[in-house]
Amino acid sequence: FKVPTPVNEPVYDYAPGTPERKALKDKLAELQSQEIEVPLIIGGKEIFTGRTAEMRTPHNHKIKLGVYHKATAKEVQMAIDAALEARKAWAEMPWEDRVAIFLKAADLLAGPWRYTLNAATMLGQSKTAYQSEIDAVAELVDFWRFNTYYMARLMEEQPYSPRGFWNRMEYRPLEGFIFAVTPFNFTSIAGNLPTAPAIVGNVALWKPASSAVYSAYFIMKLLQEAGLPDGVINFIPGSGAQVGDPVLESEHLAGIHFTGSTNTFQAMWRKVGENIHKMKYYPRIVGETGGKDFIFVHPSAKIKPLVVATIRGAFEYQGQKCSAASRMYIPESLWPEFKEMYIEEVKKIKMGEPTDFRNFMTAIIDRGAFETITSYIDYAQKSDEAEIITGGKYDDSKGFFIEPTTIVTTNPRFKTMEEEIFGPVLTIYVYKDEQFEETLELCDNTSPYGLTGAIWAQDRQALRIMSDKLRNAAGNFYINDKPTAAVVGQQPFGGARASGTNDKAGSYLNMIRWMNVRSIKETM
Ligand code: GLU
Repeated sequence: FKVPTPVNEPVYDYAPGTPERKALKDKLAELQSQEIEVPLIIGGKEIFTGRTAEMRTPHNHKIKLGVYHKATAKEVQMAIDAALEARKAWAEMPWEDRVAIFLKAADLLAGPWRYTLNAATMLGQSKTAYQSEIDAVAELVDFWRFNTYYMARLMEEQPYSPRGFWNRMEYRPLEGFIFAVTPFNFTSIAGNLPTAPAIVGNVALWKPASSAVYSAYFIMKLLQEAGLPDGVINFIPGSGAQVGDPVLESEHLAGIHFTGSTNTFQAMWRKVGENIHKMKYYPRIVGETGGKDFIFVHPSAKIKPLVVATIRGAFEYQGQKCSAASRMYIPESLWPEFKEMYIEEVKKIKMGEPTDFRNFMTAIIDRGAFETITSYIDYAQKSDEAEIITGGKYDDSKGFFIEPTTIVTTNPRFKTMEEEIFGPVLTIYVYKDEQFEETLELCDNTSPYGLTGAIWAQDRQALRIMSDKLRNAAGNFYINDKPTAAVVGQQPFGGARASGTNDKAGSYLNMIRWMNVRSIKETM
């Protein structure tokens, strides 16, 4: 079998005194000392539209990283033309040659580009060095290595041929182009969404999130260095409507690879629906959207590891993971002990700029997010159904900082138990031990989402009941662990219900979506 069997990229810990830490600090200093101008990249050419927006660090309003140029309908059309032109050679290229480009990209990222992409993500998206390492480095390297492997494995899948016939399946890229729309919260997802279809021979238009253009641009440059031919991926930052509308009206749209909000994804479906009569294909629509991820605790759970998992699940990267723990159900019998230990630990959390490596939390991505999150905190503050037991304060004078906030509610359907907040806010409902099964039912139908969830118990029978009752509540289900930090190749990622199409990122289930399959029967 030709493609090397991948193993997960090791994660550096950047411990004090290590050469890795020094290299990363040097890179941070270098990037902060210069402002860059990010162009569009269409057909391999840099395009400066003159319609620019600023890039600043979320944790320090004073640090300007540069500006990026925004696409309009005219550049979108250029990108479609460039993609369709590039498709001719790319789709015909032997797949080994395409694989070589992405394996090279993975090695470049694991090697010389490691500190650049890590530092760019720390500065542009306010991640700590560790959060950035598991995302922008390890996970993206894994996506590239594992996706090439899964694609090659799929290509080997062949049907049965009885005597007298030779049946075979030929795996081809889709016709047309793929529209990749990527989020701010994971650089790895930004790198994965345009490239997973490209590995199979597809061409793409890539619109990165406006708040994460900085790191996305470095990925684009890395891919060019790895030998990605011009026009295979076209980089077109800009506003959702300016870029999205012309793309979603194109007759050549063959697929959408999306991670972002439920509302945006639904709007895209509608737009595709309105235009479907003039499209040449039924676009493959693959998306990962919101979550309202839970931790459900049984009276037999162990408290100490639960405290650690809850804090990490809820507050790492300021709770801005789709998978972040944002509601918790805990029995009365465990509550006093849990509460005491939990509050004690949350108090120890250090928050500040990511460049100070002692910080566990940094800033929220931008003003819009800051306002949404703090409005939920204000709502809880005023309600007599809720009590705030940690955090609750926020400050945007220097950067967008919000304390790790924990709301305890007496109403299991309290607003912050139901709605996605996408920030460092956990809501806890304390249930009566004898209402274990009713509370499981509540957990299952309180939110429209089904992304991640964790159950905690030592009792095997209880784990079975929880796992059965919450069967459809989470596409990524954790037993005695936090609901975050899925690893490519280990826990294929994606949810159902309002959380997405469940086409597991980083698995063959995702790769198959980007293929047209021709069944061939030859009579001997
Ligand atoms: N894969 C990430 C995790 O398991 C979450 C991805 C997302 O936020 O979209 O934590």
